[in-house]
Amino acid sequence: MSHSSIYLHIPFCRRRCGYCDFNTFAGLSRLIPQYVDALSQEVRWAGRQSDPGTSVHTLFFGGGTPSLLTPMQMDQILKTIRESFQLLEDAEISMEANPGTVTEESINGFVEAGVNRFSFGMQSAHPEDLRILDRKHTFSDVLQAVGYCQKAGVKHINLDLIFGIPGQTLQRFQSSLALAAASGVDHLSLYSLTIEEGTPMAHWANRGLIDFPDDDLAAEMYEFAEDYLAAQGFEQYEISNWARGNSGRCSHNLQYWEYEPYFGFGAGAHGFINGTRTENVHSVFDYLQRMSDGREGQFPFSPAALAGSLLSKWDQMQEMMMVGLRMTAEGVSAKRFKNRFGSDLEVIFADQLRHLLREGLIEWINVPERAVRLTKRGKLLGNRVFMEFVGNEVPAGLQ
Ligand code: SF4
Repeated sequence: MSHSSIYLHIPFCRRRCGYCDFNTFAGLSRLIPQYVDALSQEVRWAGRQSDPGTSVHTLFFGGGTPSLLTPMQMDQILKTIRESFQLLEDAEISMEANPGTVTEESINGFVEAGVNRFSFGMQSAHPEDLRILDRKHTFSDVLQAVGYCQKAGVKHINLDLIFGIPGQTLQRFQSSLALAAASGVDHLSLYSLTIEEGTPMAHWANRGLIDFPDDDLAAEMYEFAEDYLAAQGFEQYEISNWARGNSGRCSHNLQYWEYEPYFGFGAGAHGFINGTRTENVHSVFDYLQRMSDGREGQFPFSPAALAGSLLSKWDQMQEMMMVGLRMTAEGVSAKRFKNRFGSDLEVIFADQLRHLLREGLIEWINVPERAVRLTKRGKLLGNRVFMEFVGNEVPAGLQ
């Protein structure tokens, strides 16, 4: 039986950055103690409802800013998880953190509680990029935070970078990337900036105060990163992710891309359990209310669930292709697909694969096993590939 994963959402930030459209709230930090209690309660609820002995091999605290929790609060949640599930001894326990919100003492406390992987939102090393992104930290804060982790014996550290920032030149991106790669971390995530409607950044761009990102320049940056990071010993294993060796890969995110189950706890968290997608209420106030008003929930929908849907076999087949093709090295294994659904992916997606092969966006590989994956061109046009697996008619043989 495969192991499960747990995602825990911490929807608090000191302030809201101009480009951010995540489910997070500024000015509500006073609610963190109550929220930690509610989160622990949701974990306990799921533990009671799950199959006895459900084993968990990865935990991920995302946000928001999980580093706004105290180590004691982190310890409370981790203890509850250990009491409620069979958390593997060598489980990967990741937390996102903002450079500038951690101290040597807090990192030591998180590590003592059990965290063994940190992910810092560096975004850029350049002050002008950070100013446009409305981020208040500096690159020195990033190096200091990485140093605290290394001193505490943490082996796995990620830095998030953003490219395609308005005004960012290729050279500026290259220097940020070089500084990140040389910082001693074993994982880098690179995301292209998208300006989301309703954010302050969209307002600035619509009023002409900043430029919209230049797609061609962003593609040039991405292609540069592919070559540069390979030369620095980082292997790309997902469209946006690079790691030094297999041990540097993020097992939690691989759980999503390999289309394996995960619980989602906290306000706005999503889960995928027993072929069912769950989504919790987004507001912190609604979440606290739901977890305290005595409602029952019906597994896998916790008392905080807002919505959910049981996916048909066909939906799951399409989703497995969409998320699996993000894995740029391994792709989607024909054998895993067959084991999971009892059907051959070459047969079930014959039309889609033919189109994409003809356009040079995907390729078959035979080592380490037969699988379909994106080509170099396919990585640049990933969304075009993924859309091929959305909303197709159910094939006759599956009805
Ligand atoms: S710190 Fe991260 S989650 Fe919080 S507002 Fe900024 S971008 Fe959003």
